[in-house]
Amino acid sequence: MRYRSLLLAGIVPIALAGQSLAAPTCTIPGTEAACGDRIVAEPLQSTAYHQFDGPVESVEKSLTAMAALAPDFVTVKPLDEWTGNAEHTSFDGLPIWVVRITDGSVDQADKAQVAASLSVHGLESAGREGGLRYVEDLARWAADDPEHLMYSGDTAVPFSEVMKKTETWIAFTNSDGWAAGDLDSGHAGFNRGNGNGDGALPLLQGGKDLNRDFATVGWFDRTGGRGLAESEPEIAGWATLVRSFPNLKTSTDIHGEITTPNDAFSDLIIPAGEWDPKRQDQVDQLSRNMIKTVERKFVEDGVVLDEVFGPLPEDGATPRQPANVAAAYDIVGYDDSGFMGDWFSQTQDSVHMDVENFLSNLAPNNAYIPLVAQAHVAAVRGNIEATIVEALITDDVVPSADYGRVGYVDDPTRTSSDPAVDDGVPGTGSEVAPGEAQVPYDVSRLDYYGELTEAFGADIEAVQADALATTDLSSFDTLVVTDMDGVPAGSSLSEADYLAALDRFATKGGQLVLTDRAVRLAAGLGAVDAAALTVNRTDAGHVDFLEPLGDHPYEEGLIGKPSQTFYEVMLGYPSRGRTPNYGVERGAWEAAGGTTVATVGDQDASTSPNTALGTMPRGAGQITIFGAILPQAIEKLVLDDGTEIETPHPHGLASYAVTITGGQVLDNVFSFRGVGRTTAETVPDQTGPGKSAANRGNGRSKGAERPTRTAG
Ligand SMILES: [Zn+2]
Repeated sequence: MRYRSLLLAGIVPIALAGQSLAAPTCTIPGTEAACGDRIVAEPLQSTAYHQFDGPVESVEKSLTAMAALAPDFVTVKPLDEWTGNAEHTSFDGLPIWVVRITDGSVDQADKAQVAASLSVHGLESAGREGGLRYVEDLARWAADDPEHLMYSGDTAVPFSEVMKKTETWIAFTNSDGWAAGDLDSGHAGFNRGNGNGDGALPLLQGGKDLNRDFATVGWFDRTGGRGLAESEPEIAGWATLVRSFPNLKTSTDIHGEITTPNDAFSDLIIPAGEWDPKRQDQVDQLSRNMIKTVERKFVEDGVVLDEVFGPLPEDGATPRQPANVAAAYDIVGYDDSGFMGDWFSQTQDSVHMDVENFLSNLAPNNAYIPLVAQAHVAAVRGNIEATIVEALITDDVVPSADYGRVGYVDDPTRTSSDPAVDDGVPGTGSEVAPGEAQVPYDVSRLDYYGELTEAFGADIEAVQADALATTDLSSFDTLVVTDMDGVPAGSSLSEADYLAALDRFATKGGQLVLTDRAVRLAAGLGAVDAAALTVNRTDAGHVDFLEPLGDHPYEEGLIGKPSQTFYEVMLGYPSRGRTPNYGVERGAWEAAGGTTVATVGDQDASTSPNTALGTMPRGAGQITIFGAILPQAIEKLVLDDGTEIETPHPHGLASYAVTITGGQVLDNVFSFRGVGRTTAETVPDQTGPGKSAANRGNGRSKGAERPTRTAG
């Protein structure tokens, strides 16, 4: 997906004439010895990438030979045969090869489906190179080694058991972009898109980008020649097939990159979703298990990164660990609409992981580097295997958290596609394009609080604004104002009385949390000067944690290079530097006695000068600001100069789009215990053992200590 830096592009030429015209492959039974006892030789025994359809080998022949090893387990057909729709070929009319792997003797009704898309960007060959070898692995285990252990993290399940319970679909989703790089094609190399418009500049980036063609929730980019969702036959077919799966559990979409900000060979990217805490933890578990499984495959395949990249510069350009994970903004620095992984996550109820494998993009394109290819294959074996085995264990995830008692200031206003609902913008706020139908929505950011209660019994209650002035709130540890910078709709309170009530809550020992636009209330409360309020507009909602990560309780449980806290696209924001990130100028915040946990700055700026996550003592309690976590979805976008930007959202809007990082930080913030709380049963024994068991997640929380604790 990423090609932000072309640092390495210059060093590797496109494959030259004279290179062998085959991988090689040994598809005729009895000849496998020439390929190291494989149908498709391991990369170190190969001299070229596997050809889509070359003079001496083709994907059809290789996959067909693999299926013949284990016909009761492996079925190979082109997509149009699976869907029964003859239009589901590539744009250029090539077959899209899809493999189904399962124990055919067990009824499908008892199985979980697993889906893997390989090299949907045709020049990112890692997915299909690894996928081809892994399909052969599975076929050989079926034939010769049914008790072979398959792994997701530390969970090992024999192949035979996995096959009884899962049905895995592996798709080679971009035949045109693959065939463009065949050594006898006459084309300059593999192509990113399909054949629809290939030949347009820039070279090798032409054709339609199939990974912008999915019907994702929220802002949907129609500019730059992008069509409606599923306008390309490859994606129309693949989406049709996936929608037919009765019990899809897990999925992956495997890409390639040129640089790795996360210092990993296999950069796992968390997709976007409207996730409750359980789903956050499921995706989190998949990522952690996939990291371990890639590490395992590196060992099994003898891949050592120092050997692979020894000749390359050591100044940060090359990965230092087999795999790591982060959100899209953290890794590639941008978000977008139409991603396959987001579609899986948002619309197919799948626990999904995207993958960017290193040095599998414009460079080296179809120039063959055996050591790198072997690492790609090992990584992809791990990517796919973890996705399959995870399908058996993902439902067992149980989220937990250790919240104090939380009240949130209610807001009755919801954002609706129904014109009869007065949400400030009549109708949807955006026109649908010809051929589109508006998916209805009725959303509120406050719905997230209900999910927290449902997920782990968090003690969270809505508090009506009017009640703030008259009700004893001293049983709450935390009171949160969520993306509101004025008196809530429908309240009869004056602004002064409203602010006084909020202030009273903090000064008497509670934690007043101000999120998103509500950060601006810090000025009304007199905590900082209004001139110190900031808003930075970037692609994603995010915060930049101060180094070292983990030295503040609000950072507990975070891993990798976490930054993104919500998915703006699902909330209607164009991923074009438009998402508001609220904060307070850091110097002013700290001069007023505040502590900074994380900052925020402008998109691509080298500085991050504003406090986005921080605390400030307030009487016996504290004020906490969190400038980017739960903004209300938008139906249109008006810039400061009054310009309106079109924000079509034909596939609906989300109520909330909290990332795993955002969810973890919010958990940490809500674990606050206030002083002088009045309801005994909400202040459990604070000295006894077992607190770690209450920490939420599967390894997300590192320790048993509560982040912020004062005597109750
Ligand atoms: Zn890609």
